[in-house]
Amino acid sequence: MNPEKITVKDGELQIPDNPIIPFIEGDGIGPDITSASMHVWNAAVERVYGGKCRIEWKEIYAGEKAFEKIGSYLPDKTVDAIREHIVSIKGPLTTPVGGGFRSLNVSLRQILDLYACVRPVSWIKGVPSPVHHPEKLDVVIFRENTEDVYAGIEWVQGSEEAAKIINFIKDEMGKEIRPDSGIGIKPISVTGTKRLVRKAIRHAIDNNRSSVTIVHKGNIMKYTEGAFKIWGYELALDEFRDQVITEAELWDQVMADDGVTPVTKEGAYASLRGGKPAGDPNGRIVIKDRIADQTFQQVLLRPDEYDVMAMPNLNGDYLSDACAAQVGGLGLAPGANIGDYTALFEATHGTAPKYRGMDKVNPGSLLLSGVMMLEYLGWKEAAQAIRAALERTILERTVTYDLARQLEGVQPVKTSEFAKAIVANLP
Ligand code: NAP
Repeated sequence: MNPEKITVKDGELQIPDNPIIPFIEGDGIGPDITSASMHVWNAAVERVYGGKCRIEWKEIYAGEKAFEKIGSYLPDKTVDAIREHIVSIKGPLTTPVGGGFRSLNVSLRQILDLYACVRPVSWIKGVPSPVHHPEKLDVVIFRENTEDVYAGIEWVQGSEEAAKIINFIKDEMGKEIRPDSGIGIKPISVTGTKRLVRKAIRHAIDNNRSSVTIVHKGNIMKYTEGAFKIWGYELALDEFRDQVITEAELWDQVMADDGVTPVTKEGAYASLRGGKPAGDPNGRIVIKDRIADQTFQQVLLRPDEYDVMAMPNLNGDYLSDACAAQVGGLGLAPGANIGDYTALFEATHGTAPKYRGMDKVNPGSLLLSGVMMLEYLGWKEAAQAIRAALERTILERTVTYDLARQLEGVQPVKTSEFAKAIVANLP
């Protein structure tokens, strides 16, 4: 079986049985979690496909290792390899101080136009959580990855540039800004919004999800956040009319059908929920929107009413970590940055430099990002096997220090021992 590159043909990914997948080991704890995760990914693929499929790993460099070997924190060769091989995975990277980068991670997302940051959040049985019913939260967050604050332009308070902008806005637009202000601009475009919402709705359709919630702060920022909401609905109705129903349409229908007993919208909606929270009885994806601040209380108080969620960059930054905390923290939170086809899967936490080389931390975030990657390849059986084995291992209370310290009487195992235990539990 010869290793081959993944390609795109007629708009579809072509996955060979022996795909070449580049990986970046990462800085700090990166090498520990990468070798542990790779051990599990390889074992699961071997177990499930019995040698018919195999990943050919190709190491590429970014961060400190790249600087040592090549003299650049983000070599062009690395960016080219990610583009060329379409699917890649990475550990966490230190942001070099004074290296000319805002962040290596942000640079990678922008250079490769990986416009959707995808963060699935669901609870794994046995993981300690701060809420009573962590199992009720099962969402996939689509966070816009290229604009809003990521494309934000700022000018420092007191600078000539800040003064120029303040004067321009006063003279040309007739609006007052306090003269001692710092200035920030956050753009949100039709293009950026629609391609993100399109991806979220496609994901909902392909994965039998019941709703897509557009999260915004449009009550205050009408032409950026508010526009995100309007363009999101527009896209849904223009491109997916037969597969979606808006929440407002759903309410109207129920009230019209009811006819006799007047029901409040809230009551009508609740009566529809049945076994499938907030779902359309006809199986269409419900498109709804929520204001960002109240979304934070909704995911805590009514978590089972949310499913796929789409939002601008900053809302997504906050909400994805808050949701991850609800099911046990960032140590087990996977993520991916995805463009039209190119996908870079990654651990969501940082390099935790104090634990470097100690074989101590939880590899779960990277491991589960690899599970997302296997799903992206269409290797769903291997992904499922890893999820089942991870859950079994945690239920046996074989866990790393971060989970052990939240469980009474549990001695932590090392990163590598945790990986071995997961492999032993593969179905
Ligand atoms: P961090 O590396 O995520 O670590 C913060 C704390 O989170 C750790 O001290 C540890 O908590 C816990 N933690 C992180 N990863 C864990 C794991 N795998 N298992 C168990 N616990 C884990 O955040 P930071 O210290 O703010 O950032 C350090 C560096 O990472 C910075 O250079 C930053 O720029 C970079 N960073 C990179 C990425 C990325 O590459 N995607 C993301 C964020 C930050 P305890 O101390 O309680 O044990």
